[in-house]
Amino acid sequence: MSKTFVGTPTYAPQGVGALRGSQSFPDAARTALADGQLRRNLGHATSTIRAKRAAVVAELDDWEQLRLAGEAIKTATMAQLDDHLRRLEASVQARGGVVHWASDANEANRIVTELIRATGETEVVKVKSMATVEIGLNEALADAGITAYETDLAELIVQLGHDTSSHILVPAIHLNRAEIRDIFLREMESVDSSLTDDPPALAEAARRHLREKFLSAKVAVSGANFAVADTGTCLVVESEGNGRMCLTLPETLITVMGIEKVIPTWSDLEVFLQLLPRSSTGERMNPYTSAWTGVTPGDGPQQFHLVLLDNGRTAVLADEVGRSALNCIRCSACLNVCPVYERVGGHAYGSVYPGPIGAVLSPQLTGVEDNASLPFASSLCGACFDACPVRIDIPNLLVNLRAQHVEAYDAQHRMPSPEAVAMAAMSWSMSSAGRFALAERSMQAGRLLRRKGRIRRLPPPMSGWTSARDAPVPPRETFRSWWARERGKP
Ligand code: SF4
Repeated sequence: MSKTFVGTPTYAPQGVGALRGSQSFPDAARTALADGQLRRNLGHATSTIRAKRAAVVAELDDWEQLRLAGEAIKTATMAQLDDHLRRLEASVQARGGVVHWASDANEANRIVTELIRATGETEVVKVKSMATVEIGLNEALADAGITAYETDLAELIVQLGHDTSSHILVPAIHLNRAEIRDIFLREMESVDSSLTDDPPALAEAARRHLREKFLSAKVAVSGANFAVADTGTCLVVESEGNGRMCLTLPETLITVMGIEKVIPTWSDLEVFLQLLPRSSTGERMNPYTSAWTGVTPGDGPQQFHLVLLDNGRTAVLADEVGRSALNCIRCSACLNVCPVYERVGGHAYGSVYPGPIGAVLSPQLTGVEDNASLPFASSLCGACFDACPVRIDIPNLLVNLRAQHVEAYDAQHRMPSPEAVAMAAMSWSMSSAGRFALAERSMQAGRLLRRKGRIRRLPPPMSGWTSARDAPVPPRETFRSWWARERGKP
């Protein structure tokens, strides 16, 4: 192993503009909420995936035991991550692969670029990979004169549309069929101009577009859903077969994998290969599960490179509360059940990882102040925890990040925040019966602000509260005065 960094939170993520929100979540969400077409697309797609997931999960009597097993395996693996990674490195090298360690996005991009340059190629095919989106690999390769072709259908749509992904699993979830047809007509050179928005016709157009790339590419870049430390085997699960083509046809395969994807043994896979497809696509098993172990002479890529990516993960690992976010298997079930995600979509999060897990992971990987609004992008309803196949307590992690943000704010500002002032005032009022009674009576003046049974706008300093929600109208009579009238003074 050329570097030891597991458990030592010394590396800050770099070159990860895609992880940093350029606009605060409330501002971006306001824009998204005003887009009726986007809301219809999201509502249709998420409700369809939710129904499929619920049906296949209900088939298993031992679903909760599977979730507990998944959580236990991940938690135990994270506790000894450095050992498992060293074992993985040794296993891959023993089977003819080469392992590279990348502390941040810049280093990972440099390693991959140099590996491709060494082949003399200027084009690569890609299997869908969140890790490569996280580090901005396509952009780094383009800067180096190398063209990366996404081969997953949804990633291809996003790439051709010069767009960004809005969902972990279904990157083009924000687009409907007609919008996809328009992108194909505009961007695919040889597409039939009479192309309809019928899904089989769109899939056929994509297939024809990609076929030539698959057959000519000498280099492929992939991610990995899992890597088994015992044997050095990497795995990709997918639904379209594009992954299988990329993993078998080219001469050189470069896999970029976050260090948290390692699992100790093949028997651990048994659990995750049941949890992942049901939680992600609502399928009993993935149509394609591709596994490869180093290099096999005469069969498949003859050069295999595994790039193990830190990019902020060791800092997350060092946080005893926050480290459970590394257990994520990127199934996206938490996105599909989240009432906030369903209404605003993934772009509002301004980050590669959207939805509930993105609201945790992005500030964890960049430092909370770079994505400070994301931990607040949740109603804390708990639906994400109920859906998560590895039982990540996302609401608890969000509250923890909110507390970190408050501490960071206090450390940076001399003046307390408006929330801190409001909470201090409430604490002072509520710690004395007399003061609380006085506060109740004074709040009744708020009734003067009601319009049609609602208070839509409060004056400063409470105006922030009503910028995004109504305030309740105080009742005509306080509880205390009702009690005194009905039961007499205590
Ligand atoms: S947090 Fe859980 S539900 Fe969300 S993507 Fe990760 S594994 Fe899936």
